[in-house]
Amino acid sequence: MTELGKLPGIGNRTAQRLAFHILRTSTEDANALAEAIRDVKEKITLCEVCFNLAEGPLCAICQDERRDPTLICVVEEPGDVIPVERTHEYRGRYHVLGGALSPIDGVEPDDLKISQLYSRVTQSRPTPIREVVLATNPTTTGEATALHIADGLRHRAPDVAVTRLASGLPVGGDLEYADEVTLGRALAGRRAV
Ligand SMILES: [Zn+2]
Repeated sequence: MTELGKLPGIGNRTAQRLAFHILRTSTEDANALAEAIRDVKEKITLCEVCFNLAEGPLCAICQDERRDPTLICVVEEPGDVIPVERTHEYRGRYHVLGGALSPIDGVEPDDLKISQLYSRVTQSRPTPIREVVLATNPTTTGEATALHIADGLRHRAPDVAVTRLASGLPVGGDLEYADEVTLGRALAGRRAV
């Protein structure tokens, strides 16, 4: 119970509900759940290229030859890749930062995968990167992160187009909760920053 309560977004009441659910479930299902948790810990790693979740050194998207290697969509968390994929508007690759800049919380550029993004953009061979789409959340920290990266890329890779999702996403919201139509439109209407 205390272990369940440590999960993000799970308060005491929910932890209790989960415990009751597991109690009612068959031993087989309960063991499958325990197994799934162990699997995550043992098999899931971060992709060496884009830092998305992966089973092995590369994630499924980086391994997919059909994905456009000249286009990189920058998101905060691995969970943000899923809503962008659901729009079916995007056929490029990703770069997962692992959070957003927030000096108040002590999150500085070095705490995120920002320098790795710069290396990826400036050292892309044989096909150079054409565009970087900044799809950080429409929050204060997400916007600050997008501006910081846009600025960094302007200096390091002036030939690469840097775009931001069009407005229309709920301000202060999280990409994870945007519906695919709204997010699809925001992607299609992305603008240079
Ligand atoms: Zn990857």
